[in-house]
Amino acid sequence: MEQENKRLLAFLDASPSCYHAAANVMKALLEAGYTRLYEGEVWNLTEGGRYFTLRGDASVIAFRVPRRDFRGFMIAAGHSDSPTFKVREEAEVPSAGGCLRLSVEPYGGMIMRSWLDRPLSVAGRAVVREGGCLKTRLVNVDRDLLVIPSVAIHMDREVNKGTALKANVDMLPLFGMGKEPGAFRRLIAEEAGVTEEDLISTDLFLYPQQAASLTGAAEEFILSPRLDDLQCVFGCLEGFLAAKGSESVPVLAVFHNEEVGSGTRQGADSTFLTDVLRRISAALGKTEEEYRAAVANSFLVSADNAHAVHPNHPEYADGREFPVLNGGVVVKYNAAQRYTTDAVSDAVFRQVCREAGVPVQRYSNRADLPGGSTLGNISTAHLSVHSVDIGLPQLAMHSACEVAGAKDTAYLVRAMTGYFEKSFRAGPEGIEI
Ligand code: ZN
Repeated sequence: MEQENKRLLAFLDASPSCYHAAANVMKALLEAGYTRLYEGEVWNLTEGGRYFTLRGDASVIAFRVPRRDFRGFMIAAGHSDSPTFKVREEAEVPSAGGCLRLSVEPYGGMIMRSWLDRPLSVAGRAVVREGGCLKTRLVNVDRDLLVIPSVAIHMDREVNKGTALKANVDMLPLFGMGKEPGAFRRLIAEEAGVTEEDLISTDLFLYPQQAASLTGAAEEFILSPRLDDLQCVFGCLEGFLAAKGSESVPVLAVFHNEEVGSGTRQGADSTFLTDVLRRISAALGKTEEEYRAAVANSFLVSADNAHAVHPNHPEYADGREFPVLNGGVVVKYNAAQRYTTDAVSDAVFRQVCREAGVPVQRYSNRADLPGGSTLGNISTAHLSVHSVDIGLPQLAMHSACEVAGAKDTAYLVRAMTGYFEKSFRAGPEGIEI
């Protein structure tokens, strides 16, 4: 557990943006001997081969080919993005008192007040011109660079009664004073290692300058930005890499844009996953009919963090439908099927966890609350396979800094290792796993 937490904290710290998270997933895959495939080239796959491909610089799909006549696909999906603020291209806003602020807009549904009065910086990607080509470069200004100051209680006596914050008024970070115009762009060009003329465009996001840490009397908790969903991405990645052989193709999918509805070229609501699976199937000589049969013998674990019961607000829980921190992996249920779990997928995943010795907890939204959405039902709209929605229990979801249990990551790693060694078959005799 200690080792896993150490690696998780390092992964969180090294992933200030979704692009960095994807780069770190790719780094782990390369170190494990995986070959990068490019979507714009023809794929030649071999038995025993290990591969990954990248779309939009922040979505990664990795897979292994056990043998030519594989049975199906054992897929796990998480997301690389977290709620934050995107920095606009015309970033600098001259402001009152000789201050310079940055123009930003919300990316996803964050708890806005959690971003106030803490050191922030920017990370993301820059498109640069290099040798006649356009290339993307990771950018991370890794120091205390920005702050969004709150209004003093003396001016806003109602502040503790729930003052509403406006993204276009209250959330612009302070960048400097008396700076020459263009200072921000110069800083980004420098970080990208290019001249200002060669810096074409950017996707930059704010992030809290706060290292992930273990907290609590006995270090029971993990305190970090972006636990949703990098904790699940990490757990699925570690399980994927640790798993031994399977008769099916193990597939790890990390999607960008979950926090804004997934409807992008590289999101879960795109053809990325089905494109990859079809190409695997075709490259190994399967017919369309054989591909369809393989899909019917496939399974998806959609891994996205879940809400633990809140010690200050247990009233948000309905009976025993709320998991606890450090209580194990959470299976999510929703009668309206915003979570894909049904009796069959629940039974399959519980069997995997039982065999792996991993405790399983339940989560349902309180019956009068709609709750959030996730990857599972968006993915299964494109690839209609048996699917379960799971996650790890956490508090303060979508805050700039979230809280999780220190024991739970290791549970997920164990569960996913067991999962990726399985093969799923929905045959005439019933379901075999
Ligand atoms: Zn999430």
